[in-house]
Amino acid sequence: MPDTTLPIGSARGVLVRSRWLIAEGAQPVREGGLWIVRGRIEGVLRSPGEVRACQRRRSPRMVDLGDALVAPGFVDAHAHLELSALAARVPAGRNFAAWIRTLIAERGKTSSKRLAAGARAGADALLASGTTLVADIDSLGLLARALRGHPLRRIPFHELLDARDPARTRPALARAHAALRAARRLGHGLSPHAPTTVSAALASGIARLAKRRRARVMVHWAETAEEERWLESGEGPLAALLGASPLQRGLDLLEAAGLLGRRTLLVHGNLARPDERERVARAGAVLVHCPGTHAFFARPRFALGAWRSAGARLALGTDSLASNGALDMRAEIAQLLRTQPALHPREAWLLGTRDGAEALGLAQRAGELRRGAFADFAVFGAGPARAGEIWEHLCRPGAPVREVWIAGKPVFRAALEPEKPLRS
Ligand SMILES: [Zn+2]
Repeated sequence: MPDTTLPIGSARGVLVRSRWLIAEGAQPVREGGLWIVRGRIEGVLRSPGEVRACQRRRSPRMVDLGDALVAPGFVDAHAHLELSALAARVPAGRNFAAWIRTLIAERGKTSSKRLAAGARAGADALLASGTTLVADIDSLGLLARALRGHPLRRIPFHELLDARDPARTRPALARAHAALRAARRLGHGLSPHAPTTVSAALASGIARLAKRRRARVMVHWAETAEEERWLESGEGPLAALLGASPLQRGLDLLEAAGLLGRRTLLVHGNLARPDERERVARAGAVLVHCPGTHAFFARPRFALGAWRSAGARLALGTDSLASNGALDMRAEIAQLLRTQPALHPREAWLLGTRDGAEALGLAQRAGELRRGAFADFAVFGAGPARAGEIWEHLCRPGAPVREVWIAGKPVFRAALEPEKPLRS
């Protein structure tokens, strides 16, 4: 059946044909295609007949990818590209306080130029492994310039903290206002760093600003026992670093400030209590899990089943190269599957594509190949013989990414130059 939903009179566009593609709802389509007009998917063609009909009626430019699997680009819901230059320089350490101290010292020793070059290399690595959209924490203000012209879609989350020092609260809010002035196609996010480092005044100021600007908010939360101990009792290895404790749970602090809602992404949540998982789910906030960082610190198994049973929205992130060996969503998905044997690979893959886009307010625009969505996809070489093998094929850590397209244009091609993206 020809696709009768194709509109008449629009531009001719490009028709990308391949042996397999993954359409919306994680539906494998054999010998189908994507009709792309002005960077967006105008039609998902679900059979050779639909491909021929589109060819006949629209005369698009044809791109035949042959024996390949076309899948939506991964969505990395939490990264710190600005820390990429610190790869392998920050060991997990005795405890979280030791890791933070080394991180701050190493970052201090690294020039802005090297941090910027690291961020570009990090963005290249994400792209080359099939990621097309990243939610990226920006604490140094270097990245808008460092990544100018880079094809990877990026939503900056401006990181703010005042170390609970009232003298630092207003300057932090002023920085947030200034950062939001720059035009960004996919908008801005704000990142109050963590309940341990943000005062109540700064947290509520950010909540008001985010609400006014309809911006998303990303917070590191309940990652380690040391943080939880300090928040509740003021004791432990973080006491020397953080000073006087608010003597409250992190989630209570965030909720009191107005920071717990549908536009909130909470990162880690390893130490969440069962009632807190329920509260996060009820609020409609997203929990972002970073499997590589979790493994780096040898944390106890992540409570994925409990989070899913609570009904929480979930997404996956790479975090940074200061606590992960690679910026590669295929590795995150493979790591998640290793530690969560009850999880079907299809569900893991959806966490790293559709669910990440949904978490970032881009449902139906990113993370899925459907009509109206961005034409952002990865082309995996040598597709499997049968539909039943697709999820294993896609969830292998080394699933071969042959090309990456963003906005309907190839921006990376492995055969041409394995490390570098194509720039227009
Ligand atoms: Zn992080």
